[in-house]
Amino acid sequence: MTAQLIDGTAIAAAVRQEVAAEAARIKKEHDLTPGLATVLVGENPASKAYVGSKQKACEELGMNSIGHKLEVTATQEEVEGLVKQLNADPAVHGILVQLPLPKHLDEEKILSAISLEKDVDGFHPLNIGRLSMKGRIPWFVPCTPAGCIELLVRSGVEIEGAEAVILGRSNIVGLPVSMLLLHRNATITICHSRSQDLPGICRRADILIAAVGRLEMVKGDWVKPGAAVIDVGINQKWLTHPADREWTCAATGETFIAHRKDQSEKGGRRKVGVYCATCDKAYLKDQVPDDAQGHELISLFRKYKLVGDVDFDEVKEVAGHLTPVPGGVGPMTIAMLMQNTLRGAKHALGLV
Ligand code: NAP
Repeated sequence: MTAQLIDGTAIAAAVRQEVAAEAARIKKEHDLTPGLATVLVGENPASKAYVGSKQKACEELGMNSIGHKLEVTATQEEVEGLVKQLNADPAVHGILVQLPLPKHLDEEKILSAISLEKDVDGFHPLNIGRLSMKGRIPWFVPCTPAGCIELLVRSGVEIEGAEAVILGRSNIVGLPVSMLLLHRNATITICHSRSQDLPGICRRADILIAAVGRLEMVKGDWVKPGAAVIDVGINQKWLTHPADREWTCAATGETFIAHRKDQSEKGGRRKVGVYCATCDKAYLKDQVPDDAQGHELISLFRKYKLVGDVDFDEVKEVAGHLTPVPGGVGPMTIAMLMQNTLRGAKHALGLV
């Protein structure tokens, strides 16, 4: 069997188109533009990139994006103060505090300070609580789990009565996606790092959601023939490059594999070390001594590709439906965030 691929990029584009059309209608009929406020604390490059792509999506869909950036040293009071200010701002219909926050900040307190009506990430404990209770409707559903359900529904996968196995129980993916499947009348099994016989449990699944952050963990013989498999994981898999060689870090003695940058190189690569041509010594990325400043320093890289928690090549031969990585769940997360921001605006207008 060769699985039917679930094209997350195409489904996300359809959701975005629907959101843009509805945002335009609201603007025309109610003179209101949905607005998403983002709060970025510090300089984490991945967080900066995530916030940037969310802001870009707002602009593309005709929504306002209001970016706030705080120093990495921002205090708990400063971050909570900003959240309260955004809670009171009528031009803001969704507030997104980019995680992870610097360690000195109390994440739970900050997320709890976001007004329920603007909690577009759906991480407020009351939203998660409502999501977990029968008959209660949360203001917002977390974006990645909502995206997983949308992928299943728009691909025609029957959820009601299905046996669903969820690998992972995190607050942001595993737990909420389990609750969403349960509300849609699937029979759910939630697995985690202490679960026994994962392959055996997974083989029972008509719907298998993998959200563990373990590179290609789910193998072909873990999957029931014809099952729908949603791969949430995003992992970096190292690739070999012809110029790769082993280096020894002059500061720690550790060995590492890397190559000098080849300008023609395409695809993902990560800086893992530095070669000091002045001293003819190599260092791991964070181990370059201060006195090497002013020396000729050459970056050392490793190539990688993004893979999921599912061994794609094996599982595609067994599953009925399968999401690729990249191009599966990833694009849905931002699309659902846009949908949530639109919902926040509709709530402000009393339309939901
Ligand atoms: P997380 O908070 O680290 O949670 C991982 C979960 O997997 C935990 O429940 C953990 O069990 C379980 N687990 C870890 N190793 C396991 C093993 N060997 N066997 C069984 N269970 C195991 O991760 P997360 O935030 O949920 O993210 C999961 C993955 O999804 C990551 O790769 C992340 O990058 C990706 N992700 C993607 C998107 C997207 O937009 N596509 C969004 C969010 C996350 P315990 O609870 O027992 O520790």
